[in-house]
Amino acid sequence: MSTLTSVSGFPRIGQNRELKKIIEGYWKGANDLAAVKSTAAELRAKHWKLQQAAGIDLIPSNDFSYYDQMLDTAILLNVIPKRYERLAFENQEDTLFAMARGYQGDKGDVTALPMKKWFTTNYHYLVPEVEPGEEIKLNSTKPFDEFNEAKALGILTKPVLIGPYTFLKLARTDQATELEYDKGLVNAVAAVYAEVLAKFNELGAQWLQLDEPYLVLDKEPGDVELFKTLYTKILAAKAGVKVLLNTYFGHIADVYETVNLLGFDGIGLDLNEGREENLEAVAKYGVASGTTIFAGVINGRNIWRNNYATSLGLVDALKQVTPNVAVSTASSLLHVPFSTEGETGIPADDLKHFAFAVEKLGELKEVAVLADATEDEKKASTALAANQALFDGTRVAADPAVAARINGLTADDYVRQPAREERQKLQREALGLPLLPTTTIGSFPQTKEVRAERAKLRKGEITKEAYDEFIKAQIDACIKHQEEIGLDVLVHGEFERNDMVEYFGQNLNGFLFTKNAWVQSYGTRCVKPPIVWGDVSRAKPITVEWSAYAQSRTDHVMKGMLTGPVTILNWSWPREDITHEEQTKQLALAIRDEVLDLEAAGIKVIQIDEAALREKLPLRKSDWHVKYLDWAVPAFRLVHSAVKPTTQIHTHMCYSEFNDIIRDIDAMDADVISFEASRGDLVVLDAIHDAHFETEAGPGVYDIHSPRIPSEQEIEDRIYEILKKMDVEKVWINPDCGLKTRGNAETWPSLEHLVAAAKAVRAKL
Ligand code: GLN
Ligand code: ZN
Repeated sequence: MSTLTSVSGFPRIGQNRELKKIIEGYWKGANDLAAVKSTAAELRAKHWKLQQAAGIDLIPSNDFSYYDQMLDTAILLNVIPKRYERLAFENQEDTLFAMARGYQGDKGDVTALPMKKWFTTNYHYLVPEVEPGEEIKLNSTKPFDEFNEAKALGILTKPVLIGPYTFLKLARTDQATELEYDKGLVNAVAAVYAEVLAKFNELGAQWLQLDEPYLVLDKEPGDVELFKTLYTKILAAKAGVKVLLNTYFGHIADVYETVNLLGFDGIGLDLNEGREENLEAVAKYGVASGTTIFAGVINGRNIWRNNYATSLGLVDALKQVTPNVAVSTASSLLHVPFSTEGETGIPADDLKHFAFAVEKLGELKEVAVLADATEDEKKASTALAANQALFDGTRVAADPAVAARINGLTADDYVRQPAREERQKLQREALGLPLLPTTTIGSFPQTKEVRAERAKLRKGEITKEAYDEFIKAQIDACIKHQEEIGLDVLVHGEFERNDMVEYFGQNLNGFLFTKNAWVQSYGTRCVKPPIVWGDVSRAKPITVEWSAYAQSRTDHVMKGMLTGPVTILNWSWPREDITHEEQTKQLALAIRDEVLDLEAAGIKVIQIDEAALREKLPLRKSDWHVKYLDWAVPAFRLVHSAVKPTTQIHTHMCYSEFNDIIRDIDAMDADVISFEASRGDLVVLDAIHDAHFETEAGPGVYDIHSPRIPSEQEIEDRIYEILKKMDVEKVWINPDCGLKTRGNAETWPSLEHLVAAAKAVRAKL
């Protein structure tokens, strides 16, 4: 039998983001739900056929989603909080969108479910909320419908679901706390999965893939028991359909023995991120006779070509233990762009090093074919030779100036003087801000008009001068509006930026850019990360002119706005020939130059966004410091260590999930941090309190990921919540993230309420 090929999941947003466009059209009332459904079906069909044409054996279904697969799983299990059911929408899709985005209209007013990052990716899932007494039952036909849809096209797919363990570990109570895994809940969830399994058996599925990425995290007491209980029940219901337990983003060495004994038909292992540990576990405990190991060799998180020799070596290593080895993507391809087709802006000689989702399908097939080949066939294989040639020799020459600068760094370059407490005093005098100063995170709505103007510039339809004039007018209007509503620390609005990372990349040496390499971030939102291709340095000042211009237009303090080195790297496609640490250091030096130039241009407050710092925190605690924080935190310090004591350094982070690294965040030595705390729990405030957090902080007082307008009272209540845990001298009042994706219609009333709330609280202090 030839080696089976399996794809864990495929991007669903569409080659040209068709799904995004049609869903956003629906939200705006430009098209109806039927149009959304028909585009969705077209995309599914196209994606299945592409995989079929590539010769993939196990093609996923139910990897499609209108918004998020966790949300779909919650709906599948009937985990729908009553406040959404009460809206009484006719269509399930509208309930789904209300859970995802909140809803404000004639049917009611509800906030969205909290959103969190999916493991170490920049994809966000919605956090299911299990209310007390929730009736868990099979509540949707989505997985079956999509299976049948593919079947009607002549493609027998492998349905994919998020597994019950990961679901239960990521879901929260209505108090935003972890669930108690009582018998009733566990049994009810297992029963639904057993029902799903039985149903797929009826429908003629051969494989069912259950994704359990949570298995790669450290285990808490009871976790392994929970996993065992769930799967013992589910597998007991197994009839003909085979069950693939799929894991990714790390290793499962600590439970491999248990997993192997449970009798899965397939176990999916990530051989990129969890390589050594997973291989060791397999060698140590063996593989049950009826089990196939799905060797995750095709990286689902990079854009680089696969090294076939390496992949074949991994398959061989497994074959020493068991003959039953299939090859697979290491994770879903959701996290990579669609195809390199049409990327004509990148020289062919460079582009040949890239593989996006479609190209990875071809690689997967080629690796499988080579895995079955004899030594002689391999020697004769042109595919293998061509692949080997990609990895022979250096891809790009090193920049000696960058190396020299890094070699010249000393310990002092990582330490800002004087100590923060001292600086905070000096800054208070220098800046003359009131208590509870109000500010925003940087960007203001990027209207169609702004994007259209940028497109014109790109196409050469307007001059750079005309574009600059346009941006200046946007800045002027934005400043005026901020002054009118009474914000304290102003921003210029970031109208000149397409994206907070790409914009910097475009002005740094060492980056490459794509036209269409979009990746889903949340819902319909996509990002297009730049590519680190060579050594990085700053070509010329990037933001200085805009910030200086903005400051010249107001007497208020104007905040300069930069993206930090860790975030630039985390939201780019990093190189794989040098370490992340090295790349981050190069970036830190480039941004450091920019910080000092801003300061010299009279900017007194500089925000260096590290929105993505938390995102790449390793999943295993033992790796946190040694593999990440020990270089990521110093890199940030390197960026700002040389500024004057009175220059106030802000940073911003998305998502408040940093309770457990709160001291490391403090060690970044910023003067002020703003972060998300409005969607979901305020637990981080306890952490701030308990850690005697020194950095002044603005825990976001309202959720900008939703179009909903918070009331003044709501924000005032939120401020009082914050003041219970924080010293008033250290509190800033701001939204929870940048306003770029919002409309002006909701942004300005929301900010008016924010300022009014801050003033009301101030007056009562
Ligand atoms: N300064 C950026 C903005 O406001 C920060 C965005 C982010 O945190 N993702 O857009
Ligand atoms: Zn943010």
